[in-house]
Amino acid sequence: MNITMIGSGYVGLVSGACFADFGHNVICVDSDAGKIERLKRNEIPIYEPGLDELVANNVKQGRLAFTTELAPAVKGADAVFIAVGTPSRRGDGHADLSYVYAAAKTIASALDGFTVVVNKSTVPVGTGDEVERIIREVNPKADFAVVSNPEFLREGAAIEDFKRPDRVVIGVEEPRAREVMEEIYRPLSLNAPPLVFVGRRTSELTKYAANAFLATKITFINEIADLCEKVGADVQEVARGIGLDKRIGSKFLHAGPGYGGSCFPKDTLALIKTGQDEGSSLRIVETVVAVNDSRKRAMARKIIHALGGSVRGKRIALLGLAFKPNTDDMRDAPSLAIVASLAGDGAEVHAYDPESMAQARPLMPEVIFHEDAYSAIEGADALAIVTEWDAFRALDLERVKRLLKQPILVDLRNVYRPADARRHGFAYVSVGRR
Ligand code: NAD
Repeated sequence: MNITMIGSGYVGLVSGACFADFGHNVICVDSDAGKIERLKRNEIPIYEPGLDELVANNVKQGRLAFTTELAPAVKGADAVFIAVGTPSRRGDGHADLSYVYAAAKTIASALDGFTVVVNKSTVPVGTGDEVERIIREVNPKADFAVVSNPEFLREGAAIEDFKRPDRVVIGVEEPRAREVMEEIYRPLSLNAPPLVFVGRRTSELTKYAANAFLATKITFINEIADLCEKVGADVQEVARGIGLDKRIGSKFLHAGPGYGGSCFPKDTLALIKTGQDEGSSLRIVETVVAVNDSRKRAMARKIIHALGGSVRGKRIALLGLAFKPNTDDMRDAPSLAIVASLAGDGAEVHAYDPESMAQARPLMPEVIFHEDAYSAIEGADALAIVTEWDAFRALDLERVKRLLKQPILVDLRNVYRPADARRHGFAYVSVGRR
């Protein structure tokens, strides 16, 4: 199949490279000329484990190429995937669809022969209808079908998720388009690829329902963690005790500083907006958003409390800034709110993250960045672990204690065992554990 991928970000680049790896011919388009220049030089503009090798191999085999020129890339394509950003629209939380619609307009005039236009971006219900309307308006003679195929990959494990998905949801209204989608995903499995064919609107809503459910699960365990602290219970044991029940499942039950990232915050807001517009409010999701918002500030207060109630003039070391390990993505990371609160209360914040510091620098100009964990810790009044990168899971606690001015460790990801930390002489605070 000849596939064109519009948008070469976290989703577009990974999807494009994986499709090429399956043997399809893929051209990845991006309007950001700098990004395409870097990709042509074999540089990967984002951090995603394994992506550099996957891209390099497929470029070498002649199955993957990059361009800024959308129109020529669309000609001759069997399928054109739209994988551009759909951030929150300022003001009302609705998904900003301007990038999707701009892409649709450009695709329309370049269509040539039957082409499947696939919305891979996360888009509200009805967006497929609007994309279809735009293309028909621009090019009434075009032979095309619009399909919804939301992406469920996780940053940090994106290639594995894309190649071995639990399921691929495809919203399709036309048999010809279904055939093309079956052929594109056929290499996923030698038996039956886990394709779930549904109507287009159902597919669009499924993506939001999945993200809202996961955000709810995280927020639920976070509130249970707060209660654990009050009553002297251990949230990790509670999570294990409930997670072994197959109806509940053990994933997404790690208490921490609240969900962040490029998807859950904006997708929960967009789903709430759809509910409001349709007169079918989603009160559980509304509460989840409110609880999660207040949680990030509460985590800063946890650090402040550990330092005796004030951080004015204190130096605080933060390890981990990205919203989760194995990504450089800083969008809506809990560290942003934590840094703002600490700096606002007069602390001097020192930080280290293995991959996200280039993205973090412009977002947190008040922070002093370090080249490794121990140099960030040296001379600090307290250490807070904000993201559970592997590199922070087995710190030399004796060395950490020697480097800190005071042995205060605030572990917002429950990386360490309370008894171990205390044995090393730390005043140790974690989430939902005594
Ligand atoms: P991103 O910001 O990393 O990438 C989007 C890319 O699209 C950018 O490089 C941008 O320059 C490019 N672009 C915008 N308009 C364009 C146009 N008209 N023509 C060509 N290129 C254009 O975004 P992302 O994280 O890859 O997310 C893309 C979509 O996938 C979003 O809807 C997101 O919600 C969804 N999604 C993201 C993830 C994730 O983990 N990041 C997971 C599942 C779904």
